[in-house]
Amino acid sequence: MKLWNTILSPFKLFKLLIRQYLILIFFAVQVQIASSQKAYWDNSNELVAFGHEKYEGVRKVKALIIHSTFNASYPSTAKPDTFDVQGVLKQFKTYNVAAHFLIDRKGVIHQLVLPNNIAWHAGKSQLPDGTTSVNACSIGIEIMCTYTSGPNTAQYAALRELIDALDKNYNFKYILGHSDIAPGRKTDPWKFVDNHYYRK
Ligand SMILES: [Zn+2]
Repeated sequence: MKLWNTILSPFKLFKLLIRQYLILIFFAVQVQIASSQKAYWDNSNELVAFGHEKYEGVRKVKALIIHSTFNASYPSTAKPDTFDVQGVLKQFKTYNVAAHFLIDRKGVIHQLVLPNNIAWHAGKSQLPDGTTSVNACSIGIEIMCTYTSGPNTAQYAALRELIDALDKNYNFKYILGHSDIAPGRKTDPWKFVDNHYYRK
């Protein structure tokens, strides 16, 4: 009888079932929360404090601008680590500029500014429709490369993934390089192969 009481008591069985049920509900809710989160925003722990301004309300974004950058002086001017993310961030901080995303040499996407905020990445520039306040209506992506070594396969793949994810939300009118909106002043993205990335 003791065995019956401890193992098969209907009350205990009921309690056990309820507990299993609650655990299942808990995990189902967790999965739902995880899948409802957007892939590239509101999740970053790499957001920077410089190079952007907060935007209240829902920002109207119509352009995606592709840039290139590399680290020119960190950890030392004599021997800079060209593809060091912290070095690039140090430079951005010095000039008080930033893009929303930075794709490092391994193809890892770093989110620096929330897409709803205005990042200072375009400078004096103009979109094909005549818009000159480009920062206000655009998202900026920096790809780490040099004047001679363009983006690698991992970076192109990351860029494709990032553009597709953002495009679902913003349906960009334009996807352009920095040199397209600031000709004569900017030459990036360097050595960039437009494999259907651009929307001009
Ligand atoms: Zn640029």
